[in-house]
Amino acid sequence: MKTIGILALQGDFDAHRKAVERAGGRPVEVRTAKDLDACDGLIVPGGESTTMLKLLDIENLTEPLRQFAGRKPVFGTCAGAILLAHSVTSPTQPSLNLIDIDVERNAYGRQIDSRVAHVEAGGQPMEAVFIRAPKIRRVGPGSTILATYNGDPVWVEQGRHMVTTFHPELTPDSRVHERFLEKVSTLPSRA
Ligand code: GLN
Repeated sequence: MKTIGILALQGDFDAHRKAVERAGGRPVEVRTAKDLDACDGLIVPGGESTTMLKLLDIENLTEPLRQFAGRKPVFGTCAGAILLAHSVTSPTQPSLNLIDIDVERNAYGRQIDSRVAHVEAGGQPMEAVFIRAPKIRRVGPGSTILATYNGDPVWVEQGRHMVTTFHPELTPDSRVHERFLEKVSTLPSRA
């Protein structure tokens, strides 16, 4: 069984713990660089991306996270997707540049400012919870779009990393977490 770390500095990490269990992984909360050693993959949850960036810095986790991501899969949801993006606007803030997408924070405004919607994932409908979600404005040529909402990409992967702008940990559908576990199990880690 694969051990999936869940960054537990801030945000809805507890819901991811249950979702990882449902998908057949072993979840562990990550608060220090040492916690990362036990993990085969890492989830960066939703929450507030500016706060999470600051906490990563305060806990001296930014560099260890980068190093982890150089070898193992990382999955970011909502604020986590903002942290993993190539560039971030509205407002501009630093990011880890692990996946070649540009995101605009809080870009849906009232249109879907926190609601359950149906997105399309591989021709199938999927219930998706959006909470002050970012919009993916650009997807690089190396990235694959796995789900869209009204034509916007909302689930994207590139190599071993993956993001969703919605919260798959808040619905019973396990497809997104299963996909991440599959990536963790099958992708060769780069030394
Ligand atoms: N709006 C938040 C941000 O910009 C993200 C919201 C979420 O993670 N649900 O960080």
